[in-house]
Amino acid sequence: MNVNETRLEAVARCPEGADDPTRWRDWRWQLRNSFTSLDDVEKALAIEFDEAERVLLAETVRHFPLSVTPYYLSLIDADNFRSDPVFRQALPSSEEIVVRDHDMKDPLAEDEDSPVALITHRYPDRVLFRVSNTCSMYCRHCTRKRTVGDTSCAPTSEELDAALDYIRSAPAVRDVLLSGGDPLMLSDGRLDEILTELDAIEHVEVVRLGTRMPAVLPYRITDELCEILAKHQPLWLNTHFNHPAELTPDAEEALARLADAGIPLGNQTVLLAGVNDCSRIMLRLVQRLVANRVRPYYLYQCDLSEGLSHFRTPVGKGIEIIESLIGHTSGFAVPTYVVDAPHGGGKIPVMPNYIVSWASDRVVLRNYEGVICTYREPDEYKRAACTEECEDCERSVGKGCRATDSGGVAGLMRECDPVDSLVPNTNARYLRREAEPADD
Ligand SMILES: *Cc1c(COP(=O)(O)O)cnc(C)c1O
Ligand code: SF4
Repeated sequence: MNVNETRLEAVARCPEGADDPTRWRDWRWQLRNSFTSLDDVEKALAIEFDEAERVLLAETVRHFPLSVTPYYLSLIDADNFRSDPVFRQALPSSEEIVVRDHDMKDPLAEDEDSPVALITHRYPDRVLFRVSNTCSMYCRHCTRKRTVGDTSCAPTSEELDAALDYIRSAPAVRDVLLSGGDPLMLSDGRLDEILTELDAIEHVEVVRLGTRMPAVLPYRITDELCEILAKHQPLWLNTHFNHPAELTPDAEEALARLADAGIPLGNQTVLLAGVNDCSRIMLRLVQRLVANRVRPYYLYQCDLSEGLSHFRTPVGKGIEIIESLIGHTSGFAVPTYVVDAPHGGGKIPVMPNYIVSWASDRVVLRNYEGVICTYREPDEYKRAACTEECEDCERSVGKGCRATDSGGVAGLMRECDPVDSLVPNTNARYLRREAEPADD
């Protein structure tokens, strides 16, 4: 890798920064000088696409915007650019405009679960709030690539106010995820305002911020930003590193700043063919993350969004990776592997199987080494009959805390008001019963 040469190329391209190399660490300078044309990328990396390829790539860029910060571009190993993990995440592939049979525009039905613009309310106690629809670097694997970067979808201040009103009027919402786009594209002042509004809502117990900045533009993590974030605790920050090559000294410095400011850090990785679909790469990534005080949170199966088919792996690949992590490295370095269910079913955790079999008095389990063992169930176990209002409960969790309000399979296991079956509303047998009620 010749970072300096690339850096010089980038700086040289811009007369404004050419005489002042410290500009490199100014995030606004990086944004102003982001690469948005294939020609400039070719020049900066001293690479060449062939003619036919350039036509296809130009067509791709017309569909999905191209923008790469000089910093992120400088991580590419130009000598091996085609297989470079950063190149593959940042620069288009002609396969993006190929729409396959199972591809969908809005695979997660985020629009359908949207009570007001900018909000997706899918789970009972938390909402996703898209405060920005731009990013400093447009990931080629973005789930929301249809709308992210489209300036006609940028949130207006009326929409932001209406979204805040929605959160104010929804007492069940105790966790708000600021997402986008990238929320750190907002100015410090604007972000401070939104966080202040959220702080003032009594039922909002925690705010989360999802940002790719530490990976693609670490200079955005300034001391001033950290001061603002530190004012709005409890605030969790989830970032998005996909490959150990992204954990550069500058990225590590950004993470250290956030951790020093007392912000708990998590990471969400997307499993991407040709980028990180390898147990060794993933092991290195998660170990380097925890060494930087970042807890690997989720590993996402790539969604069914249009233009992502070349990034998709079989689910089996993800299970294979998790199998290679559990037991083999620190438990807190292992993310939860999830498939985000099409049509808005939410994240479904997927794991290797550890239960080999079950008898009435014991469970047969296997460990990561393949050792099979038995766990003896207790001879006697008196299940506490939960009425959700016993004295113990009130003493320890207080009134009004109902653990299983949202039903689901947990509702089938509930002690009081149990539900004894879940039947799809399209079940033919039940529909027939409704249409032709028995006449006795
Ligand atoms: C991922 C997601 C959340 C948060 O889910 P957690 O499992 O709590 O991290 C909330 N809302 C939507 C729409 C999501 O996609
Ligand atoms: S940072 Fe997130 S929202 Fe932005 S392009 Fe990447 S995946 Fe999409």
